[in-house]
Amino acid sequence: MEALLRWRHPRLGLMPPGQFIGIAEENGLIVPIGNWVLRQACEQAREWQPPHGDPCKVAVNVSAIQFASGDFVEAVSAILAETGLPPACLELEITESVLMQNPEIPGRQISDLRSLGVSIAVDDFGTGYSALGYLQRLPVDYLKIDQSFVKEISGGANSIRLVQAIVTMAHSLGVKVTAEGVETEEQMGVLRRLGCDQVQGFLLGQPMPLAQAIRELNARPERLPLAS
Ligand code: MN
Repeated sequence: MEALLRWRHPRLGLMPPGQFIGIAEENGLIVPIGNWVLRQACEQAREWQPPHGDPCKVAVNVSAIQFASGDFVEAVSAILAETGLPPACLELEITESVLMQNPEIPGRQISDLRSLGVSIAVDDFGTGYSALGYLQRLPVDYLKIDQSFVKEISGGANSIRLVQAIVTMAHSLGVKVTAEGVETEEQMGVLRRLGCDQVQGFLLGQPMPLAQAIRELNARPERLPLAS
């Protein structure tokens, strides 16, 4: 599950993040908004946790401004404590372009977050300038292959080889891979064959409000406790 922010404006209707996140980053409101999103996502994910079986993880997108705010690690730690979400159920996503444009984002901060038990994902992987050096500098858990590569899978052998190369590179660095934007059984089959670790996309579920997410999760047979 990935938490996606939408703003239901009283006059303008449903606003996608592209229309307000940039402004919130400019005027600094992204810090309180980001903390609110994190708290909401953690509270909701706490409700999703199955009584038995594998924990259900939630991924939350984080802005570079939040990282730069200085007390981000403390904020995450406090929100986890207040909401009672096990840290292993939280994944923080930061985009590749943000990582590359902000060399001041210290590996230290990322290591501190990981020592809380939270996992870190590089979002939109492959759409930056491919300066792969940051993968040596920053300890991350997941690369999220951008959906543009997943879309191309039906395009033929070269597109498949490219995804294969990303999976191989990530695995050889001890990093797992999530594919974004999986929409067809064909894409799913190829990704499974290539050893991709996680997938997300419309094939598995459309964006939905909390109540519906809980209903759908509870309807999944793999959520039932294993027969003894
Ligand atoms: Mn994301």
